[in-house]
Amino acid sequence: MSQIFTLPDNFSAPPNCLQGKTILVTGAGDGIGRRIALAYAEQGATVILLGKTQEKIEAVYDEIESRKFPQAALCPFDLSTTDPIAYKQVAETIRNNFGKLDGLLHNAGILGNRNSIESYKVKQWLEVMQVNVNGVFMLTQTLLPLLKSSGSASIIFTSSGVGRKGRAYWGAYSVSKFAIAGLAQILADEMEVMNTVRVNSINPGATRPRMRAAAYPPANPYTIKSPDPRLPLHLY
Ligand code: NDP
Repeated sequence: MSQIFTLPDNFSAPPNCLQGKTILVTGAGDGIGRRIALAYAEQGATVILLGKTQEKIEAVYDEIESRKFPQAALCPFDLSTTDPIAYKQVAETIRNNFGKLDGLLHNAGILGNRNSIESYKVKQWLEVMQVNVNGVFMLTQTLLPLLKSSGSASIIFTSSGVGRKGRAYWGAYSVSKFAIAGLAQILADEMEVMNTVRVNSINPGATRPRMRAAAYPPANPYTIKSPDPRLPLHLY
C-alpha cells in the first residue's frame, strides 16, 4: 500500500551507511543527480553514473576519485533511446561487473516547453514522455532482476509538485510526473509481497539547478535553495 511520509526531524545518515552498496543514479552528471551521486559515494557506495553527456559524468567520476570515495562506474546512456536492447545492455554490463544492484535513483528528467496544451509541439511532447516516463519504465523493468538479487534494494523515482496538481503551461512535464507517481505506486504495490525491494518517490522541491531556472526564468536562482537540504531524504 502506498503512503506519504516526511523525513523524521532528527534523522541524519550514519557515516558510511551505504558501504558495499552499488547504486545507479540517472542524470548523475549535473544538478541534483550530481549532488546525490557524490553524497552516495561519500557514504561508501559504488555509484554507477548514468548520464547523457559523457564529459559531465566523467567529471563526477574524477571528483569521486579525487575525494578518495569508492571508485565509481561510468554509464553513458541516452534515455531518449527507445530500443529495448540498449536497456538490456546496461543491465548486462552491471550484471557482469557487479552481479547485483542495491539502489536505483531515477533522477534524470527534462522540462520540455512551457506551452499550453493547445499549442504544445507533438515532437516535444513525445520526447519528454520518452525521457521522463518510457525510459524510466524501460530501465526499471530491465534492472528489476538485478535489484531483486540484492536482497534489500531501493528504487527512488523523482516526482514534482506539478505531478500532484496540474498547472497551466506545464504540459508534458507535468503529465510525465503524474505518470511517474502512478508507476511508483504500482511498482511499490507489486514489490510489497517480496519485501526485498522498497519503492519510493521523492519530490526534491524547488532547488537551484538549471531546470528550475528554465522553468522560472525571471527568478534569481540564488534566492532558491541549493539541492543539499533535501539530501537526507535520498539517504534515508
Ligand atoms: P537538471 O536539468 O539540472 O539535470 C537533469 C539531468 O538529467 C542532467 O544530468 C541531464 O544530463 C539528465 N538527462 C536529461 N536528459 C537525459 C537523457 N535523455 N538521458 C539521460 N540523462 C538525461 O535537472 P535538476 O537537477 O533540476 O532535476 C533533477 C530531477 O528533479 C528531475 O527529474 C526534475 O524533474 C526533478 N525536479 C527538479 C526540481 C527543481 O526545482 N530543480 C523540482 C522538482 C523536481 P545532461 O546534462 O547530460 O543532459
